[in-house]
Amino acid sequence: MRQLIAGNWKMNGLGASLAEIELLRNGLAEDAAQAEVLICPPASLIARAAAIAGKDIAIGGQDCHAEPSGAFTGDISAEMLRDAGATYVIVGHSERRQYHGETDAVVAAKACAAWRAGLKSIICIGETEAQREKGHALSVCTSQMQVCIPEGANPQTTAIAYEPVWAIGTGKTPASAQIVEVHTLIREHLMTRFGATGREMRILYGGSVKPGNAAEILALADVNGALVGGASLKAADFLPIIRASARA
Ligand code: PEP
Repeated sequence: MRQLIAGNWKMNGLGASLAEIELLRNGLAEDAAQAEVLICPPASLIARAAAIAGKDIAIGGQDCHAEPSGAFTGDISAEMLRDAGATYVIVGHSERRQYHGETDAVVAAKACAAWRAGLKSIICIGETEAQREKGHALSVCTSQMQVCIPEGANPQTTAIAYEPVWAIGTGKTPASAQIVEVHTLIREHLMTRFGATGREMRILYGGSVKPGNAAEILALADVNGALVGGASLKAADFLPIIRASARA
């Protein structure tokens, strides 16, 4: 399975940051075999990013509303993202859950909205530090998956990102065995629900992936790519992560 290396710029980036996408594009042009590469810039940059990304970089949104249009001030629909040039959208990121009160049911509706608009969805799950300390990591991820991955998910439309909340932006990463334990759980869930196609659905790891730890993480069983925050902002950091994947 070709790995997917996705960058989530969060609420970072002005027009000048598009230079990083150009640097990334030029860097990727030098590589023969490589992972699929995705950048999710802020919505304000999607159209301009899509115009310069070239064939080796897909552009995505960081969130979408479940409805195609309407009186939802400040929101953006999946159709609008598609219209601006996006082909992917992240849904259920823990920062959306934490700061915008998104439930698993809302996340499922957003994933369905992505498919309706012809976008691929990256559905995020993951436990908090307190939940892991209580020994609830696996049960939390299972109950999230039961609701936030809609029926009809398939490898062409859906990837799952395991992002332990305590690893996001903290510099802490789980032990390899902890990542494998959760990714195995996710794979089993996908195969139970979707049969053989569940084997083909990508499972990304996210949380403090850096050039220095990417090769080790990307070589783990059932890790089919990475969702990268801070280290995706600069091509100089993101390129070695992509290249680590090509070697993994
Ligand atoms: C993220 O925002 O999804 C993320 C994983 O962030 P970071 O890589 O900075 O931990």
